[in-house]
This record gives sequence, structure tokens and C-alpha cells, in this order.
Amino acid sequence: MNIHEYQAKAVLREFGVPVPRGVPAFTVDEAIKGAEELGGPVWVVKAQIHAGGRGKAGGVKVVKSIDDVKKESTRILGSTLVTHQTGPKGKQVNRLYIEEGSAIDKEFYLSALVDRETSRVAFVVSTEGGMDIEQVAHDTPDKIVSFSVDPATGLMPHHSRAVAQALKLTGDLAKQIGDILPKLYAAFIAKDMSMLEINPLVVTKDAKIVCLDAKVDFDNNALYRHADVMALRDITEEDDKEVEASKYDLNYIALDGQIGCMVNGAGLAMASMDIIKLYGMEPANFLDVGGSATKEKVTAAFKIITSDPNVKGILVNIFGGIMKCDVIAEGVVAAVKEVGLKVPLVVRLEGTNVELGKKIIKESGLNVTSGDDLDDAAQKIVKAVKEAA
Ligand code: GDP
Ligand code: MN
Repeated sequence: MNIHEYQAKAVLREFGVPVPRGVPAFTVDEAIKGAEELGGPVWVVKAQIHAGGRGKAGGVKVVKSIDDVKKESTRILGSTLVTHQTGPKGKQVNRLYIEEGSAIDKEFYLSALVDRETSRVAFVVSTEGGMDIEQVAHDTPDKIVSFSVDPATGLMPHHSRAVAQALKLTGDLAKQIGDILPKLYAAFIAKDMSMLEINPLVVTKDAKIVCLDAKVDFDNNALYRHADVMALRDITEEDDKEVEASKYDLNYIALDGQIGCMVNGAGLAMASMDIIKLYGMEPANFLDVGGSATKEKVTAAFKIITSDPNVKGILVNIFGGIMKCDVIAEGVVAAVKEVGLKVPLVVRLEGTNVELGKKIIKESGLNVTSGDDLDDAAQKIVKAVKEAA
């Protein structure tokens, strides 16, 4: 789960990490009031969206008067920012962050993430801050220093010395980074982050190290133990269909293909997607309704699939183990009756109560094709979609 920059900075502040003072704002009036509280003489008006690259897209402006705070806030709030991370549709700005301006001497890059290869938290630092780090890694890989932290010892002084050396910091600045780094690591571990990116980490003209930007991603599987983090969720930043799916505890990921899939079990879902590809089409989603789906859950899943305009056909592939085929069949029939069916639908059922399930579908009078097995069902849906096109 992602959060906004101002929220990430508030989390880091709790751990004693130096971040500039700032005030979030949902309206231009709040932005002006916030700027007055901060006092100036320099402010930064920052668009809050769950994407980076705001600076280049005009979403970060350094200003020197309350009039300009007003002007830039009015311009940015409600506008759509297109950055290299938002995709071509961009993201609408619904929140601003008004921050005290910093006089920058140097800009660095620092991030921490869970490195699956070493099963450790890895840090990446570079003197080339403010820029696209992928580009730096590609063009000048020697300017990137990375290391991973042994979970048994945690962050050690030698890590801080390595970072100070990589960033060419000496004296008091080396001391400051030695203070900040363990705090960043502590925040990362305590909050179950999966990624923390500070770009830029700056040295100010009065020789202070400050986090000028902060991007945090949390491990979704650990959110249950962080009610405070959950409260930071901004669902307006997320895919509508994925938000709806999460309400019903469905494992749903939107994809780009034409065939919507409703499957139980992650393995069967993967197999269904593979076989759709084998027969020449692409899945429109990954959807695992789980082993204990109810009629309501199946109906919700069906609605989510049919609300995607890219879906030109639907494949329901269920193995009834714990889940009974008649329950699935009732769910499908109820959903089709409720939302209508504008595209071909192939249902393949197998397992507990399969005969009852098939009977329910057959007697529903709906235009649903039955598949005998996975192979047959995949061929039927691909053929039906091609014929309908
Ligand atoms: P991003 O473009 O979405 O990554 O947004 P950032 O928060 O990183 O801001 C983009 C750039 O704006 C930074 O790399 C800085 O160069 C600049 N910037 C941000 N805050 C300040 C500030 O307080 N003072 C100055 N002079 N520049 C700033
Ligand atoms: Mn940035």
C-alpha cells in the first residue's frame, strides 16, 4: 500500500528523521492558512499523488510570497498531472502539501527495500540525487552504492560510514547521516515497509541533512497489525476495481487482455491464464475468489469483471473442493441476472456437487456455454470471443 509524501514524512518524523515542516491542504484556503502558519519566506507547493516525477510535470513549485502560494495552489489543485509514473491518463491532484522551503546545497538519492534475493533490507545510495535513478544505474552504475543489513544485528555503524563515504560526507555531516540512517531503518522495520525512497536527500546551505521527498510502500500482508498505517490509505489513488475487490476479500489484479477470468485458487488461476494465452488470447485479470466464496462474493467478482470495458468474454473455472459447484452456479446466475451479460460466458465446473451446479446453469435459461474440462473451456471462450469480434 502506498501513501502520500506528507504522510510518509509524518511517519519518518515520528522516528526522529529530519524532514521540513509542512502542512497538508485540501483547499486553496487551507494552503494559504498553512503557508501563513509556516511563516516563509520561502515555501514549496507540492501536489500529493501516489506517483513520482511531479517536479518535472509542474507539480512542485518553490515560491516566495503568499500570493504565489495562492496562485500555484489554485493552478495545481484539481489539475491532472501526467508524470513518467502516472501513465498517459495522469492523476488528478486532490491534496497539496505546503512546506517550508529549503536552500539546497547537494541532492542525494537514498532508498531501502526488501531484497528478496538476500531476504534482507537493502539500501541503495547515490550522489546523483533528484534524477531518475534507473538512468543513473544504467549510465553510471559506479555512482550507485548498495548493501544489505543483517536482520540479526540491524543497522551497524559501519553501514553509516559506508554511506558517508559513498556520499562523500565528512565531519559533522557524516555524523548526521550516522544519526539518520538507523532511524530510517527503525521506521522501515517497525512499520513493515517494503520500500522507502528519499529522492532527494539533501544537504542544505546551512549544513543540515534533510529528507526533501519521501515515498513509502507498505507490505500489504502486514497491514493487519498497523491500524495507524491503514488509516492513511487513500482509495481515490487506487484502481477502482481493485478497491471493490478488496472489500470482498477477493484476490484481484487488473490486466490488459480481453478475457475476464473467475477462478478459485491461485494455482488454478495461473493455469487458466496460461491456457488462455496458449489458445492465442490474453487474460483481462487475475481473480482468485478463494476457497470459501459465498454467493455474494461470486456476484461481486462477476460485477467487477463485467465492469471492465476491455472484457470481451468471460471464463469461469471452478474446482469445487471446499467450495461447492452449486454455490458457484447460483452466484453466476444471480450475477448475470443482476448485471446482464453482453459478452460470451463459458463456465467449467468440476468437483463437489458438479452435477447440481451444471443443472442450475442449464435451467437458468441464460446464454452460458458449459466447458467439459479446462482445455475445452479455454478453446470455447477464445473461439466465442473471436466469432463475436
Ligand atoms: P518528485 O519530482 O515527485 O520526485 O518531487 P520532489 O519532492 O522530489 O521534488 C522535485 C524537486 O523539486 C526536487 O528534486 C528539488 O530539486 C526541488 N525541491 C523540492 N523541495 C525544494 C525546496 O524546499 N527547495 C528547493 N530549492 N527545491 C526544492
Ligand atoms: Mn523526488
